[in-house]
Amino acid sequence: MQEKMMGFMCKKCGKVMYPKHERCLGCKNTEFDEVSLGDECHLITFTKLYALPRGIEMSPLTLGIVEFNNKVRAMGQIMADDPEPGMDLHPVWAKLRTIDEKEVYGFKFDSIV
Ligand SMILES: [Zn+2]
Repeated sequence: MQEKMMGFMCKKCGKVMYPKHERCLGCKNTEFDEVSLGDECHLITFTKLYALPRGIEMSPLTLGIVEFNNKVRAMGQIMADDPEPGMDLHPVWAKLRTIDEKEVYGFKFDSIV
């Protein structure tokens, strides 16, 4: 089970990306090192979704963009009850949804307790 959220650092120019791309967005290089994105990020923006695919239990679903300390941004479900742009969050490995009775896990972002 994956517990740390990993980014991909270009071996040539050092740009960190998430998720992984075939080629570096900075220099087109194709070789990367996995690096931890860290445990802290903050919320950039979010929206609430009311029309959801089957298998998602949270309704409405809060979908947001977070930024880590190294400036890498990621999109994901926000678990905080009362999300505010700028609030501190951290990635947690949790169930995202159920598809054909299979549970799908990934990273969500929860407020720091
Ligand atoms: Zn690069």
